[in-house]
Amino acid sequence: MSAAALNAISVDVEDWLQSTIDPELPLTDRFHHSTRLVLEAFAKRGVKSTCFILGLAAEKAPGLVREIRAAGHEIQSHGYGHRLVYTQTPEQFRQDIDRARKLLEDLTGARITGYRAPAFSITRQNLWALDVLLETGHEYDSSIFPLRTRRYGIPDAPRHPHRARTPAGNLITELPVACYNVWGRRLPIGGGGYFRLFPYGLIRRGVRQINTESQPATIYMHPYEYDPIEFDQLDYPVPWKMRLHQGLGRRGFPGKIDRLLLDFRFGTMGEVIGSLGELPVYDYGAGGQPAA
Ligand SMILES: [Zn+2]
Repeated sequence: MSAAALNAISVDVEDWLQSTIDPELPLTDRFHHSTRLVLEAFAKRGVKSTCFILGLAAEKAPGLVREIRAAGHEIQSHGYGHRLVYTQTPEQFRQDIDRARKLLEDLTGARITGYRAPAFSITRQNLWALDVLLETGHEYDSSIFPLRTRRYGIPDAPRHPHRARTPAGNLITELPVACYNVWGRRLPIGGGGYFRLFPYGLIRRGVRQINTESQPATIYMHPYEYDPIEFDQLDYPVPWKMRLHQGLGRRGFPGKIDRLLLDFRFGTMGEVIGSLGELPVYDYGAGGQPAA
């Protein structure tokens, strides 16, 4: 039965202001409370997730990292400083993810094997990043968005988990975020602004389609999506256009997640990978040159 398929639910643990507005800004502490709301929502439905924690967030709130771990969630890496990968040289990227990995391993006592890039910033132009991930002990990635958006995505990338062949010829497990194939197009139903905007019925149809294809859906979210009053409380003038785009749908967000948790089976990325058989290999080709 497709309804019994195990899907992956993931949280990119970060602070909205620092991650979205400017990585130079200090982190606010709003994510402490909103992350706890997310953990409560998962606990209510008995669901374990994967938390991709930003190194800066772990440094600011080490107790929160331990709480996440104690609640049984899988902890993985969102990198250290929330710099877009395609703006970094391979060496800068290596330093960023190594720093995050060591920090999180020290805090949790567990190996860090998974990674999600800030704003899905692994594209066809910087596939070398996949090799750097393997060289630094990572075994899976969830950073390639399988459709084109304004800033990121690889439109012809597989929609389902696969082994990505890297420019150096290595293989890394890739879990793309859920996309619904409809009217000959891919709709990104797995999270973000689209998830907040789309009616729940559309998201449910998309997850159902993926499960009917005997595949897991990967959902992603952020603590700030549980914080609808953030812009009124920040000591920072958020431009109205940004408020509109970033705030839209936050109020309805927790309800949508709860319905999803009731309608489908969810677990960690690691559990989902463990539930899959041998994955097909997809060759991304040469994948561009490192940024200067
Ligand atoms: Zn992020």
